[in-house]
Amino acid sequence: MRSPIDIYLADLYDDLVGLSAGTTYQGIPAMADADNSKFAIAMATVDGHVYQIGDAELEFSIQSISKPFSYALALDDIGLDAVDEKIDVEPSGDAFNEISLARNTGRPANAMINAGAITTISLIRDRDTPRFERILDHFSAAAGRRLKLNESLYASEALTGHRNRALAYLLRSFDIIETDPTPVLEDYFRACSVMVNTHDLALMAATLANGGTQPATGVQVMSKDAVQRTLSVMTTCGMYDDAGAWIAAVGLPAKSGVGGGLIAVLPGQLGLAIYSPALDEHGSSVRGVAASERISSDMGLHFVRAA
Ligand code: GLN
Repeated sequence: MRSPIDIYLADLYDDLVGLSAGTTYQGIPAMADADNSKFAIAMATVDGHVYQIGDAELEFSIQSISKPFSYALALDDIGLDAVDEKIDVEPSGDAFNEISLARNTGRPANAMINAGAITTISLIRDRDTPRFERILDHFSAAAGRRLKLNESLYASEALTGHRNRALAYLLRSFDIIETDPTPVLEDYFRACSVMVNTHDLALMAATLANGGTQPATGVQVMSKDAVQRTLSVMTTCGMYDDAGAWIAAVGLPAKSGVGGGLIAVLPGQLGLAIYSPALDEHGSSVRGVAASERISSDMGLHFVRAA
């Protein structure tokens, strides 16, 4: 028997699958020919149930949706104050790859833009296992299954990421990054090249909704303090130069990635994930934004909804 939510999602899917605006990410050849017809919506509740429709098992690269999870890991590793010394929490209102650094100190505006996300990686240290393994373990724990790195995509990111390289060296010149930028960049590119599906992303979002405890496995992946901070920064900065319009229309902390994924979080309730590779001018999935607006409005999820 299909639940009312399954029926709702199926109707929504039918309404939006015809949206043909946007283009796939052109920055990396491997991603430019993603299939625009693909579309999935998944919703995970904090008790671990996942509702989904469309191509929800199809894998794609996590890209910038890695940023909030890396940020939470850094916050738990070295504490909020130490992270704040290196990365501010101000919305830049700029595009994801903008050079949004404080003029005198070089401190990036926030952890959701590339400059802040590359800095974030430098704050995560090797422990018993090397840094990237820790990052992958952390993402996997939030998804509730073993995720994998796409090696050829990583190679392609590393080959074409000149702007990110420039950012990392600029950050190094300001001593915001205190170590050799090259391994930091490599792990940033790897973090962006982790493969997920829409089902995974819904559970990762639900882990944030659930105060850091993965709803299906019961594993505490992040501290509540790290989650609160991460969701705050997602609220103001997660959608880059579209953050204001997003919060006005949808009213949920969110993060998009140029792989076509998008997550939104209703704290205490659910994680929402959408995949569709055609992007708008801000680098966010066109169907992802449209579906989020519809779901927020139909289900009354906006955090300052009237009455
Ligand atoms: N790998 C991409 C980059 O670093 C991620 C950007 C994104 O998803 N917005 O440019």
